[in-house]
Amino acid sequence: MYNITLIPGDGTGPEISEATKRVIEATGVGIQWDIQEAGIDVFEKEGTPLPERVIDSIKKNRVAIKGPVTTPVGTGFRSVNVTLRQTLDLYCCLRPARTFKGVRTRFDQIDLIIIRENTEDLYAGIEFARGSEGAGEIIDLIAELTGKSIRPDSGISIKPISGFGSERIVKFAFRYARKNRRKKVTAVHKANIMKYSDGLFLETAREVSKGYPDIEFEDRIVDNMCMQLVQKPELYDVIVLPNLYGDIVSDLAAGLIGGLGIAPGANLGEEYAVFEPVHGSAPKYKGLNKVNPLAMILSGVMMLRHLGEIKAAERLETAIASVIEEGRYVTYDMKPSPDDPTAVTTSQFADTIIGKLS
Ligand code: NAD
Repeated sequence: MYNITLIPGDGTGPEISEATKRVIEATGVGIQWDIQEAGIDVFEKEGTPLPERVIDSIKKNRVAIKGPVTTPVGTGFRSVNVTLRQTLDLYCCLRPARTFKGVRTRFDQIDLIIIRENTEDLYAGIEFARGSEGAGEIIDLIAELTGKSIRPDSGISIKPISGFGSERIVKFAFRYARKNRRKKVTAVHKANIMKYSDGLFLETAREVSKGYPDIEFEDRIVDNMCMQLVQKPELYDVIVLPNLYGDIVSDLAAGLIGGLGIAPGANLGEEYAVFEPVHGSAPKYKGLNKVNPLAMILSGVMMLRHLGEIKAAERLETAIASVIEEGRYVTYDMKPSPDDPTAVTTSQFADTIIGKLS
């Protein structure tokens, strides 16, 4: 029996979490769920979107699976997702992007591994609002140190990238490549412009790569990488990126394999693991029992593998692949048109997968 923290999240999170829970239970792996609410609804009730009990539960159980959580845009509370990753030092965001047979996409045979640094970069949450005392002091300090002037009505976000953070994420990428018989690691950056943050990431990646002569290494500037991924995705294998580029390229990769509805992920650290889909809370579909639960169910497959339940993970993946290939009992996003009347609901999709589990 495993004790696992389940964070249903908000928006469409609770619907896909319920579907995921049922499917994972149907594999026969014994799980005691510790259900912990977090997100926008909890903020209204408890005054924080991420109560301490949620962190305590993950620390106790060491493994969690979560639905998406809304982050207000521009104002309001800071991201629950970012806080969780930083508090638990979940420094690696692992996002496989692989095409399933039968998915409608412009590309076939995509098989990419996106490895995103998860704690630093512009996600550090060090920001100064326009007109604030802090922003004024920083503007003055920068003028003094560099002679460069920043407009006084600027907001400021700080982008720290460390040698320590870069080394451990790039090492993770190489270790992953070696363990999973991957051939190449590509480090992505904008070191031509940000010479001391992205430059450090690149320099560290080059240094780390020397310790893995069996794995090919190359680097790409992030804008070129986006173009190349859309034109020739087959040239790439394991891709390691700082936090912000990792976020953006993950969604690009999700687009290559047929959309956010099928893109899973894991946030990993030395001590804890939190599995979650790449997508957000898709609030406009909240309560409609409509969105695709696969991204979270596939995150559950990753969790089963992490727990060492390899057979259950393979059985579940086979069941999912067969439902997708058949293409009948799938949600609207996997149909030729989003208005397709034959699209099934979130819960029906889960039932179909459960029915296929042998
Ligand atoms: P989103 O991923 O929620 O949705 C974008 C679009 O993708 C949706 O409108 C929908 O068309 C499609 N989509 C997403 N999930 C789907 C699914 N399961 N099935 C079918 N289609 C799906 O992105 P957004 O609208 O930019 O963000 C909404 C909220 O989610 C924001 O508050 C954002 O901060 C948050 N967010 C949370 C996480 C997380 O919890 N890890 C990740 C990303 C965004």
